Amino acid sequence: STQHIVPKVCIIGAGPAGFYAAQQLLKTSSNIKVDILEKLPVPYGLVRFGVAPDHPEVKNVIHTFEKTASNPRFQFIGNVNVGKDVTIKELQEIYHAVLLTYGAEEDKLLNIPGENLNNVISGRRFVGWYNGVPADSNLNINLDVEEAVILGQGNVAIDIARILLTPVDKLRNTDITSFALEKLSKSKIRKVSLIGRRGPLQAAFTIAELREILKLDGCKTCWRVDDFTNVNQVVNTLARPRKRLTTLMLKYLEETSSDTEATTKRLYPIFLRSPVEFLGSNTVHSIKLSVNSLEGNDVFTQFAVSTGLFEEIECGLAFRSIGYKSVQIDASIPFDIKIGRVKNIAGKVQDKLYAAGWVATGPVGVILSTMTNAFQIGTLMNKELPITENKPGFVGLSKILAQKGIPIVLYNDWKKIDKLECERGKILGKPREKIVDINEMLEIALK
Ligand code: FAD
Repeated sequence: STQHIVPKVCIIGAGPAGFYAAQQLLKTSSNIKVDILEKLPVPYGLVRFGVAPDHPEVKNVIHTFEKTASNPRFQFIGNVNVGKDVTIKELQEIYHAVLLTYGAEEDKLLNIPGENLNNVISGRRFVGWYNGVPADSNLNINLDVEEAVILGQGNVAIDIARILLTPVDKLRNTDITSFALEKLSKSKIRKVSLIGRRGPLQAAFTIAELREILKLDGCKTCWRVDDFTNVNQVVNTLARPRKRLTTLMLKYLEETSSDTEATTKRLYPIFLRSPVEFLGSNTVHSIKLSVNSLEGNDVFTQFAVSTGLFEEIECGLAFRSIGYKSVQIDASIPFDIKIGRVKNIAGKVQDKLYAAGWVATGPVGVILSTMTNAFQIGTLMNKELPITENKPGFVGLSKILAQKGIPIVLYNDWKKIDKLECERGKILGKPREKIVDINEMLEIALK
C-alpha cells in the first residue's frame, strides 16, 4: 500500500518563493516533508539581501518564514550550492519532486562601449554591498565624486538613488553594513540623474517609492519640463494607478519651474534617453545618451526610437540598473538563456520538476506577487505528487553531502548567526550587524 509512504519534496533557494511554497505544501498535505536547500549559510534571499535597509517593515515577512521553519516536517539546509555540490538529477532520485526557487542573481548588461570603465557599477552589486552579500563586500566604488547617473528607473534604481541621497544619519540605525555606512558618510555625491529610455507615462517606478524620494530631507527632485510635453492632455484618460503616478509627477513639475530653494542635493529624473557609451580613459567621466522619441499609438506599448540626436552628461559614477536575470545552475534544467529564465508553463518545468518566484516568472513583481505565485505552484505540486515508492529524502542528501565533505547549516545553526548579528547590532544601535564572511558564518553556525 502507498499509505505509509511520506511524500518528500526538495526546494532550491530559501528566498520568499521557496518559503511561501514550503508553507503551502505543508498546509495542503498532512504528512509531506519539505527540505529547502540554500546556497548561502543564511536564509531569506532578497528579503535579507535586496530590500533596502531603510525599509525594515518590508522584512516583517520573515516572521511568517520563521513560523514555517518551526514546522517539524520542514528543514532548512544552508551552505548547499545546487548544481555544484549536488545535481538536480541526484535530487530527483532521492525526492519525489523538486521545486526551483533560486531567483535571478545576475544583472542584465547594457552591452555598450565603456561598460568596463572604473566606477561603472552594477546596481545589483551596489545593493549587495550595502546589504551584506558576501560576494559583493569587496565592491570597488569611489564616492568621492559629485555627479552620479543611474541607468534604469525601476524601484531598484530608486532604492539606489535614495541610499545615495539620504542624509547618512538616517541610515545609522538600520541594518546597512558598517563598511557601506562608513563610505557613504564620506560621499561627495550631490547630484543623481535617473535615466529612462521612455517617457513619464511609461515610468517603471511606483507611487510610494516616488513619493518617498520626493520628500527626502535636504534633496530636491528637478524634472525636465520638456519631457512632459503632451502629458497633460492624456493624464485624464489613464487607468487609476498610472493616473495617480502621473498626476504626482505633474504636481512636482510645477514646483520645479519655480525652483529657488537652496538644497544641498538633487535628483534629476531624465526621460527619453538611452545610454550609448560611457566616456573616460580609466574611470568614467561622462555618459553619451541618445535622444529618443516614442512611436506607437497606445501609451502602454509605445517604444523608444533614437532621433539621431545625442546628449552628454557628466558623471564620475554610473550605475546599471536595468533588471536581473537568472542563471542555469544545472545543465539538466530546461533554460531560456536569451531571457534568463527557467522554461516553464505556469510553474511546471517537466515531470516532477517545478519552478516558482523570479526564476520562473522573471525578475518582476514584489514579495506579494511572488507569494501568490509560490502558493499556486505549491498547490499544483501537491495535486500531482506521485507517491508510489519510498524515497530517502534528507537521509540520502546528507550522505551525498557528507561524502563530498560539505558542511550543512540547519535552521538552528542559522539562529546562532542571527543571534550574534543582533547582539553586534545592538552595540551599534542597529537591528543587526550582518556578517558578510562565509567562513565566519560557518564557524559560528557549526561551533
Ligand atoms: P530570491 O529572493 O532571490 O531568493 C532566491 C534564493 O535562492 C536566494 O536565497 C539565493 O541565495 C538562492 N540560490 C541561488 N542559487 C542557488 C543555488 N545554486 N543553490 C541553492 N540556492 C540558490 N519586494 C517588495 O515587496 N518590497 C521591496 O521593498 C522590495 N525591494 C527589493 C529590492 C531589490 C534590490 C530587489 C532586487 C528586489 C526587491 N523586491 C522587493 C522584490 C523581492 O525581493 C522579490 O519579489 C523576491 O525576493 C523574489 O523571491 P525569490 O524567492 O524568487 O528570489
